Amino acid sequence: MELENHAEDLASDLGIDKEEVKADLQNLVEYSVPIDEAKQSLRRKYGDDSGGGGGAPSSKSIDEITTDDGNVTVTAVVLTAGERSIRYQDDDHVIVEGRLADETGVIDYTAWEDFGLSAGDTVTAGNAGVREWDGEPELNLGESTSLSFLEESLEVPYEIGGDAQIADLQTGDRAVTVDVQILESERRTIDGRDGETEIQSGVLGDESGRLPFTCWAPDPTIEPGASVRIENAYVREFRGVPEVNVSEFSTVSSLETEVEVGTDATIMEIGEAVASGGVYDVELVGNVIAVRDGSGLIQRCPECNRVVQKGQCRTHGSVDGEDDLRVKAILDDGTGTVTVVLDDELTEQVYDGTLEDALEQAREAMDQEVVADTIREKIVGREYSIRGHLSVDDYGANLDAETFEENDLDPTVRATRFLEEVRA
Ligand SMILES: [Zn+2]
Repeated sequence: MELENHAEDLASDLGIDKEEVKADLQNLVEYSVPIDEAKQSLRRKYGDDSGGGGGAPSSKSIDEITTDDGNVTVTAVVLTAGERSIRYQDDDHVIVEGRLADETGVIDYTAWEDFGLSAGDTVTAGNAGVREWDGEPELNLGESTSLSFLEESLEVPYEIGGDAQIADLQTGDRAVTVDVQILESERRTIDGRDGETEIQSGVLGDESGRLPFTCWAPDPTIEPGASVRIENAYVREFRGVPEVNVSEFSTVSSLETEVEVGTDATIMEIGEAVASGGVYDVELVGNVIAVRDGSGLIQRCPECNRVVQKGQCRTHGSVDGEDDLRVKAILDDGTGTVTVVLDDELTEQVYDGTLEDALEQAREAMDQEVVADTIREKIVGREYSIRGHLSVDDYGANLDAETFEENDLDPTVRATRFLEEVRA
């Protein structure tokens, strides 16, 4: 909805001048206040606490709450409560996020005030704001919410606490607890919002799968090979895949017993994998239908590592490019396509030669395109099983391959399948 429409809504609800509301709204939005917050605070300013169209907020069970509700009163059990620091109107602000449940369902919440919520508490949240996130209702517990703790606990058919398996984690999950083994970890310095900061990043896993992580306050317990319990982590998307975030509010403790890490990647159809918006560790099976331009023998900028065209880097201008090998191949399984990216090692494997061999072939032919042509002849029309990291963004779906293996099918079966593919 446009600001204009929000202003009109508010003005008619509150019975005041639209231009006045619009100016206030604009101001708040410019300060990066989410639109729903902004509207609520204006409702308070102009003396309508109800949120909707007048009257006190009604008590609702969780399954009755819809994104059309303005404010509601809910009695529920706190399943999870995780602290997180956000920058809000130029100030660092600690918020608490998690999930609430009653007999009828579960809902995400954000508490903007310190109510002292912890997992297992039964509470009544009076006048909680309802906002929409990704099409679903969420609760905002803020200044105008009255929160009371009940002595008698509510029985709910949901597990209290944030215990989770890696494979089940999704972008947006909060206050999760995982038992994992650290597979890779490195410290690096980034230019953060408060200047240079040291962070830790790597890969962790459990029996169900693997995911990348970032730890915003480096922790000596997190080292390759260590088995640890991480409490109060949250999951956000980074470079197109979910990433476990360990913050200053998370707790990391060593585990006595080693956490086993599963070795199988999830096998998915390409269409399904792309629709999911990105998968860290996935296996896709399909036919290579083309090898894209910019494959084979290429040159990279020594400054930024980007591929240079005719000695020109888009950022660094004329550079002395460094030779490298890579393949960008289009994989199709009938449900969708992805661009598979092979690094220098996998490219040497499919080319069946080294960078030196490629340079020599190019010198002899006086054309470096011959390397891509050779690779094209070897892999187009064949079926492969490819394991890697799938990221999906505005530029398309890319699978960063870790393994690239040909499926040994009978050649006639393969040819028939490929023809069917092409005809489809
Ligand atoms: Zn460059």
